[in-house]
Amino acid sequence: VSACLERIEATEPKLNALLSVQAEQALKQAKEMDAKGPDKSKPLWGVPVALKDVLCTKGITTTCGSKILENFVPFYDATAVEGLRKAGAIIISKANMDEFAMGSSTENSAFKTTANPWDTSKVPGGSSGGSAASVTAGQCFGTLGTDTGGSIRQPASFCGCVGLKPTYGRVSRYGCVAYGSSLDQIGPMGRSVRDVAALLQAIAGFDPKDSTSVDVPVPDYAAAIEARTDLKGLRIGLPEEYWGEGLDSEVEAACRAAVDKAAELGAEIVPVQLPNTKYAVATYYIVAMAEASSNLARFDGVRYGVRDMDAAELIDMYTSSRSKGFGDEVQRRIMLGTYVLSAGYYDAYYRKAAQVRRLMRQDFLDAFEQCDVIAGPASPVTAWGIGEISDDPLKMYLMDIFTISLNLAGLPGMSLPVGLGADSSMPVGLQLLGPQFSEAELLSTAGVLE
Ligand code: GLN
Repeated sequence: VSACLERIEATEPKLNALLSVQAEQALKQAKEMDAKGPDKSKPLWGVPVALKDVLCTKGITTTCGSKILENFVPFYDATAVEGLRKAGAIIISKANMDEFAMGSSTENSAFKTTANPWDTSKVPGGSSGGSAASVTAGQCFGTLGTDTGGSIRQPASFCGCVGLKPTYGRVSRYGCVAYGSSLDQIGPMGRSVRDVAALLQAIAGFDPKDSTSVDVPVPDYAAAIEARTDLKGLRIGLPEEYWGEGLDSEVEAACRAAVDKAAELGAEIVPVQLPNTKYAVATYYIVAMAEASSNLARFDGVRYGVRDMDAAELIDMYTSSRSKGFGDEVQRRIMLGTYVLSAGYYDAYYRKAAQVRRLMRQDFLDAFEQCDVIAGPASPVTAWGIGEISDDPLKMYLMDIFTISLNLAGLPGMSLPVGLGADSSMPVGLQLLGPQFSEAELLSTAGVLE
């Protein structure tokens, strides 16, 4: 804990990865644990972890990167946070994020802009950019992010750490501030595949408090990694839609080299198709914004956070609290979300998107008839410059092309660092995607490639 606090002090002025640091509390806890001695039943005993500020932490401010929750102190822990605590982890900090997890660069945070540890003029990715930057810079040994449309995998790829988005339902969403409820999943990020496996072990499993969490046994992820020493017999599918037009050549080269290595280690490489990928951005942004507009209705100035005390009428209080509390991107999404759900437009937009979503899931199911794991880049580009595209939301949405289909299909995926881009010298992440509950397979494949 002391080492991490020192590291925070040294790096945080340049990184701005954190929204709060629980220095005193973490040190106190560490001292108490030291006094008692190691507890073998707790696999994360004494491990300092950071949490994306979307996760509710008992007694610790949870802002979700938004002014509207600036002073929100939850009175309970998210189930995933409880899981980490039970495993012995020490919560050392809350990490910066795009407001309500809406963004791909962490520039939409209401509080600060996080920098990429590899080059502080570049973004760390998003929306879990604070988490990715923090664990990469050694401010903690592991972290949790959330992935609604790539927000674990893309920042992991931009910062060069490992990030895993579990199967929808694998990890309880209880206590995670909702963005797109049918897409959101909490997942681990760390500096190695084994670290990520250990974190996932602590947070995976059924939770009666989340009706969408699934009651299937949780395998021993570390054992799966240890058991695999080569990739013989593994069929890796390369979707032609992920390896073609729009992909930066340096990203393609680094990912291609990793796939070649997999082939050398015995994997069979097979071409596959995900033909509905071309609809991914349109479909995702309709579904995500629709769900966001509904989820964010609860922030009305009455129950949580910021309230405009000067408004004369109740309706004005709602309006002005929300106008002051929410940033531009969140307001844009609430408006678009309510639009696609409104009478007269619902059939044309929301219903159509829901239908296309089903087809996209079918694409994956068909592809997994021919392969065990799919591989492709996590992002078409490496980290871009801070401010470079922040005023062009559509351009930023288009950058999500390789990550969002997986959320629409509810499947697991991870990003594994595979080197630096030849031109930018910034990290490149290879995505490994799998069928439902294939986290052990993904982790063990990544463990061999790491
Ligand atoms: N870029 C996506 C969005 O803005 C990522 C969201 C996420 O995964 N939280 O919606």
